[in-house]
Amino acid sequence: MTKIDQSRLKMLTEREESSYSKEHPKSRAVFERAKASLLKGVPMAWMHRWAGPFPIFIREAKGVQVTDVDGHRYLDLCLGDTGALFGHSPAATVEAITRQVRRGITSMLPTEDSVWVGENLARRFGLPYWQIYMTATDANKFAIRVARHITKRKLILVFDGCYHGSVDETLVNYRRDRLFIPQMFDLSLTTRVIQFNDIEALEAALAPGDIACVLCEPAMTNVGIIFPIPGYHDVLREMTRRFGTLLIIDETHTICGGPSGLSGAWNLEPDIFVLGKPIAGGFPAAVMGLSQQVVDRFLVGLPREWDMGLGGTLSGNALAVAALRATLENVMTEAAFNHMIPLAERLSDGIDEIIKAAGLPWYVLRLGCRVEYRFHPTPPRNGAEAIAAYETEVDKFIHLYFVNRGILITPLHTMMLISPETTAEDVDRHNWVFRECVGEMVG
Ligand code: PMP
Repeated sequence: MTKIDQSRLKMLTEREESSYSKEHPKSRAVFERAKASLLKGVPMAWMHRWAGPFPIFIREAKGVQVTDVDGHRYLDLCLGDTGALFGHSPAATVEAITRQVRRGITSMLPTEDSVWVGENLARRFGLPYWQIYMTATDANKFAIRVARHITKRKLILVFDGCYHGSVDETLVNYRRDRLFIPQMFDLSLTTRVIQFNDIEALEAALAPGDIACVLCEPAMTNVGIIFPIPGYHDVLREMTRRFGTLLIIDETHTICGGPSGLSGAWNLEPDIFVLGKPIAGGFPAAVMGLSQQVVDRFLVGLPREWDMGLGGTLSGNALAVAALRATLENVMTEAAFNHMIPLAERLSDGIDEIIKAAGLPWYVLRLGCRVEYRFHPTPPRNGAEAIAAYETEVDKFIHLYFVNRGILITPLHTMMLISPETTAEDVDRHNWVFRECVGEMVG
């Protein structure tokens, strides 16, 4: 197997870093100015995590093309880490937002569009009742609240390496700190953590009967793609029912699997369903679906004030709902996925061929229109294995190499998304650059 020479990698990274700095003088100047007023020079801390000494500042994004303040154009394969999965500013969403923005943005009263959205979500995902929020973080927070209220239990169960937004209970970081902030309180008061795909650990965690809900993605994505072992979801569903624990499925990333997510594709039966990010074409919106049984149990003995804890003033606002409707109706369609998924296959097949030809001990995985390669011979079965296999320096070099050649891939991992606007030429361009990149690394 081919090995990457670390001193060569260091030299190549320095070369790329220097070229990055030279080619982005305006981004650098904006960043220097931003440091005086924005924490770490960015409006949201994660933006600091891109490779490079400073982030590129964006002037415009349309479809899969992004232009920065220095005038460079990029092919965007990051797509806002799923927020812009359907391309930047999809035409139908933009049209609906433009129409609605003049007719009232928010009023604390429902619009008729919200009924259309509820009906579409019920048909699409098979759960009868819905609430609309601004972010997946919010939706997960409220989903946990519903589960605790119903079960009268305080603990939740998550999988090591998970990410469900900045929900305190889920930021499990007691063993490693590569991805998440250290917590200042004892997480064992709220959370039990086990490894994904470990059936014995699942039974041991649920058996005491004190877990309100399992919150999980159908396949993990945030430490790289991790598929469930065959039969895992059947066991998870059976055990959660047996021990009186609710099952919350968060499809915020795994909607890449198809128009009804992996829940639709794999016939999953969540009690509560969460989806955010791309569902309104990148406009802030998220949804939470509830089963009939959850609603029946939730409403029993509920005080009049129940609704105070289940949303914010802006949740379900007219503008977000208009964007949601337009996206569900015209953008997040079966036809779109019929374009996206075969192109993602073309991307992963190309990457696989290059990895094999170079004799590198790496693998590539595809989940619907999401493609990712990692620097390890075999895919991980759980978060611990995934994190142990991180190769930070290789990762950093690859990101810089691609940015310098006009391609954006998702920071923190080598993940790419295919949108309805991505073309076969875009995919081939990535694979061409990847071949060159690998060639330079192996020397
Ligand atoms: N759930 C999952 C699975 C996610 O990956 C994320 C964000 N990456 C979230 C929820 C939170 O989304 P947001 O940051 O938009 O609230």
